[in-house]
Amino acid sequence: MPSDTARRPYVAGNWKLWGTRAQAAAYCERLLTLLPEPARRDADVAVCVPFTALETVAGALAGSGVAVAAQNMHQADNGAFTGEVSAPMLLELDVDAVVLGHSERRQLFGETDRALSEKVPAALAAGLQPILCVGETESERDAGDMQRKLRHQVQEGLEDVADDRLADVVIAYEPIWAIGTGKVATPDQAQEAISFVRALVGDRSTAAADAVRVLYGGSVKPDNAAEILAQPDVDGALVGGASLDPESFAAIVGAA
Ligand code: PEP
Repeated sequence: MPSDTARRPYVAGNWKLWGTRAQAAAYCERLLTLLPEPARRDADVAVCVPFTALETVAGALAGSGVAVAAQNMHQADNGAFTGEVSAPMLLELDVDAVVLGHSERRQLFGETDRALSEKVPAALAAGLQPILCVGETESERDAGDMQRKLRHQVQEGLEDVADDRLADVVIAYEPIWAIGTGKVATPDQAQEAISFVRALVGDRSTAAADAVRVLYGGSVKPDNAAEILAQPDVDGALVGGASLDPESFAAIVGAA
């Protein structure tokens, strides 16, 4: 699959369960002192924050060009789904994007590919950019099952997305064995898996495969970001732990 150098790099910081509103406000103030002006930035930047900090972060980052993402949403606009939030609720807080199918949600909270096949088009229809996470466990990789797992996750997650909207989804390839472990994929491993993900999109639409951004996630740090991001099919990074420090996160944005 040819790689298209016109794809704009995308770096997203996933705060996970971190960030009171006070912490979030201080973080944003610091981050904006570290990032270049929007017009001089070579990458799209997003922060993925807890629901309770979204309004604070959207206010603090207004006009900065840094996108604000939630970390999950329900596919329905409203209904008997206690504890859930919907796309219209996120839009009301000026949220731009939403992480869907993070491995922690899949493993700890029972998120399924079936639900994701509804969440991804629901986010798009509402005007939110979905960041769809996929990735294999260490035992799946060791058993030679990586491609089967990625095929299932990508095909089902994108099943009800029209071909002409596929490139509006950002896909994050996050090998589960690399998340929060300090065990980063090698640049070759990241390239191999991400070019496979791109080829899966290509099975639906060649134009979408050329345009869709596929990120790597899993123990990205300032000192390993550049060589991973230099791979031809790697369009950016989803950063967990290292994004909690504005200096580290800004350095990773710089590497992109
Ligand atoms: C993540 O949470 O998506 C992630 C990649 O975490 P970490 O960078 O800490 O491995």
